[in-house]
Amino acid sequence: MKENLTKTRELLSQYREDYALCSKCKICHGNHVQEVNHARFFRNCPSGSRFRYEAYYASGRMELARALNLKEIEVTPQYLHALYTCMECGSCQEQCYPVKQIFPLRVIELLREKAVAEGWGLLPEHAPILKKLEESDNYLGKPQAERDKLIKELGVKDASKEKCGVLLFIGCQYSYKSELKKALGSAVRLLRKSGADVGILGSKELCCGAPLLELGDRDFFEAFGKENIERIDATGAETVITLCSHCASVFGEEYAGFMKASPVHVTQYISEALAKGDLKAGKKAKGTVAWHDPCRLGRRLKVYDEPRSILDAIPGLKRVEFERSRGNTLCCGGGGMAAAVYPEFGLEVAKERVYEAEFVDADTIVTACPWCEEMLQSGIGGRKSKVKVENILTLLEESVGGK
Ligand code: SF4
Ligand code: SF4
Repeated sequence: MKENLTKTRELLSQYREDYALCSKCKICHGNHVQEVNHARFFRNCPSGSRFRYEAYYASGRMELARALNLKEIEVTPQYLHALYTCMECGSCQEQCYPVKQIFPLRVIELLREKAVAEGWGLLPEHAPILKKLEESDNYLGKPQAERDKLIKELGVKDASKEKCGVLLFIGCQYSYKSELKKALGSAVRLLRKSGADVGILGSKELCCGAPLLELGDRDFFEAFGKENIERIDATGAETVITLCSHCASVFGEEYAGFMKASPVHVTQYISEALAKGDLKAGKKAKGTVAWHDPCRLGRRLKVYDEPRSILDAIPGLKRVEFERSRGNTLCCGGGGMAAAVYPEFGLEVAKERVYEAEFVDADTIVTACPWCEEMLQSGIGGRKSKVKVENILTLLEESVGGK
């Protein structure tokens, strides 16, 4: 493996100024007040809002990092609970950085990396996730060979055997989950309709490694990154399109610069195709939709306008904004692998987001992330809400027509 295959490996101690400079101003606890219309939607740290104690906000986690590095405290079950309930949504950093130039999210991520590197981190509930990735090379622990069937099913090129114009990196969730197949089909048909010559890697596509980064297992993540980059480079594709927002952030923040192809999220590619006239939405749609900004697509990659421009291209559709949108978005409840260990907590966050959709009179939440789709669906069930959740590409395809 190349040294530092992905972005430069950092250590928590390099951020000691950040946690030392944290003034406990609590700006990270909620959204900027001037951008909040209702008190209910001020709070925006999922774990702090749920567990309330200081240790569950970024301000407290900065203190947990500082005190551990200075050996003032020891790791206890409570310490681990505070560490692994963070959804790594980045709301804290979104609020803190413009005012204080401090990176609280990075401190939390590096605290998790330190936990793995020193062997005191991870919980028994994380073991099955690691086992599936180790044994099957994908997050769901399914046979990799099943992914080869997608080449025929989707009618795309096998990028490991023949040259293609764009390489579609499908991701574990869209590859295997039956409830997500509709969105996958829409993505491929829209890409082909826009003129793209689409190929996939089939069984040679491995997990992007996002769950490992979120858990702080940097070495394991880099093993996946190295394999994926070598296999993508071998295809000769100039563009890699990701469907999942977690894959998109891994490609944009970690792989980019270390592979030959340029990464782009599917909403970026499709919005450009619409702008160029390669795709045209013509059939009228009905309803009021709210775009849910996935944390990783929005805060990390700043992809805010493209999905909105796709929705605005669909005639008849009314688009409203969540109270917490763009940089102020609320996590769906599925971030940071917290819901894998604390499912009730994840569900509470998802229900809060669904409540917010009801509050802004949206009948449909639209997103482009399998994790968000799944969590929001569970939030709808939990609230017995009439709100629906839709993938943006499925919605667009209905308007573009011609399946
Ligand atoms: S992390 Fe930033 S916003 Fe939060 S208390 Fe510290 S300095 Fe303030
Ligand atoms: S990343 Fe999200 S959940 Fe974690 S401390 Fe920051 S705002 Fe709270």
